[in-house]
Amino acid sequence: KAGYVALVGRPNVGKSTLLNHLIGQKISITSRRPQTTRHRIHGIKTTEAGQAVFVDTPGIHASQKRAMNRYLNRTAGTALLDVDVIVWIVDRPVWLAEDDLVLERIQTSAAPVILVINKVDRLEDKAALLPFLESAQQRHPFAALIPASALRGHNLDALEHKIMELL
Ligand code: GDP
Ligand code: MG
Repeated sequence: KAGYVALVGRPNVGKSTLLNHLIGQKISITSRRPQTTRHRIHGIKTTEAGQAVFVDTPGIHASQKRAMNRYLNRTAGTALLDVDVIVWIVDRPVWLAEDDLVLERIQTSAAPVILVINKVDRLEDKAALLPFLESAQQRHPFAALIPASALRGHNLDALEHKIMELL
């Protein structure tokens, strides 16, 4: 099994931290898989279960509605259509208006989406998690909802397992 995994999320949600934990500090690209110019490869994770090529999808992180709309109009149906799995990272159980725009974009892809609720180590009210997970699942049939701490490495094995399963 091998495939492309897109990491999406607003700036500062913890994408780089998560990647560092998943693939280690030393990023060496040894894959023979062809690269597409649409994707910037951030790293490759190879395990017995498979090989995940982590890619960035430019534009999806736009934090302003106007920028997002411009992006949607310009590149509707390109980069995200090629990936096999989408990992969407949010910073704690908070749903912002702009997350609806990200969701719209994500829904143009047929790829399964894993929602990572990151920074749970900083979550004071753990009880907030459950209603968030329920409302998220009503917005989109996520392949998995994974509370995690990229910083502490909490629950990242579950994430890795799920990614490999979906490739
Ligand atoms: P990116 O912009 O999405 O790539 O986010 P970064 O990986 O650069 O992280 C932004 C900030 O959030 C950094 O200061 C990280 O140390 C911090 N951070 C990332 N993940 C976690 C986490 O799980 N818990 C906590 N407390 N901080 C985190
Ligand atoms: Mg980063």
